[in-house]
This record gives sequence, C-alpha cells and structure tokens, in this order.
Amino acid sequence: MYEAEKQLLYEAHMTLEKYGLVAYTSGNVSLRIDDKVIIKPSGVPYSLLKPADMIVVDLQGETIEGTKKPSIDTATHLYLYKHLDWAKSIIHTHSTFATAFAVLGRTIPVLCTAHADVFGEEIPVSEYAPVGSEAIGKAVLKVIGKSGTVLLKRHGVIVVGESLDDALKKAIFLEEVAKMSYFVLLRENVEQLDTSEIDRLNLQYHTKYGQR
Ligand SMILES: [Zn+2]
Repeated sequence: MYEAEKQLLYEAHMTLEKYGLVAYTSGNVSLRIDDKVIIKPSGVPYSLLKPADMIVVDLQGETIEGTKKPSIDTATHLYLYKHLDWAKSIIHTHSTFATAFAVLGRTIPVLCTAHADVFGEEIPVSEYAPVGSEAIGKAVLKVIGKSGTVLLKRHGVIVVGESLDDALKKAIFLEEVAKMSYFVLLRENVEQLDTSEIDRLNLQYHTKYGQR
C-alpha cells in the first residue's frame, strides 16, 4: 500500500541529505494520508534507506505496514497530527545553524525579507523535552505559530507543513535564515523588521509569489 507516497517520502529524505540538513541517520520526515502516517524507520542510514523501508502507522502508533521499527520520534509526529488538523507533513532535523539557536534557547528574529516571506514571524523555541514520548509534541504545541516552525530547546527543529513540499521548503529556508541570522547576530544586535512590513511581505509571498 501507499507505494507512490513511500517514494515521495523517500525522495524528501534524500532532499534533506542533499541540502546538508541531516547526518547519517538523524532526522525524519512523515506524511499523513487520512488516518495513517508514513514515517522513516529508526536508525537507518540515509545511504541505505529505500522507499520500501518506510513504515505505515495508525494515529495510535501501531504499525500497519513495514518490517522495521518506526522512528523514535513517531510519538512526537502523531501527537502533532492529532492536534493540528491542517498538518499533512512533519520534518525533524538537527540542522546546524537552526540547532545552534535551539541550544542557546534563542528565537530567530525576522531580520531579512526571506524570513518574513516564508515564515512571517519570529521562530519560537519550545521548552526542553525528552525524546521518545509525546513530551516534545506537547512542548511544540505550546509555542507553535503561523509558520508551523519551532526550535526544540537543546535539540533541533520541528517543521509542520500543509504538504510535503511546504514542510521541505520551510526546513530548507529555516537553515538558510538561521545561518544568515547567526552571522549577523555575532556582529551586533540587529532590530527586527517592522511588524507591518513582515506582515506585508508574508502576505505577498503567500498570495502573489511563484507560479500559481
Ligand atoms: Zn532529534
């Protein structure tokens, strides 16, 4: 079942690796199809990963299809799908520059137009929560905003998307924005863009940018 979706999910994992957002086995992507979720198997290196390895689970976490154990972060993904109707895909990474902000417990302010375009808000940081239970999902839900993007204190990143492409786009742009912000903030404290300009850019990007 879900062969086409498993292929897309596999390709999404390869995209994360191509952009240098994950290393060896870390990170994972999931995709919701109705009341099922497809997710990466636990601890499988990207170089060995195959589309057929993807695990199908129900919203209670029971494996429906697949011979491997699902990602250790499955409970986090399921908790967020159960509480966010609009969530169709979730990405977790430890991408370096975004995680540097997460380790510092620092939000990423809106310093440039690309940040305002894609995210439209300061990227929040959740409280610290241990891996492997619903605790991370609960911590994310407390701070998640319109960007669907949250830094996990001392850990990494969770990106919630309206589609697989939306989640991928945000995971990639988050690292780019974090990298730029890191270098800027090393030098001096820079003010955020005006709130009205952030809102204007974000609306323009989501209604006028691209081929639609
Ligand atoms: Zn992690």
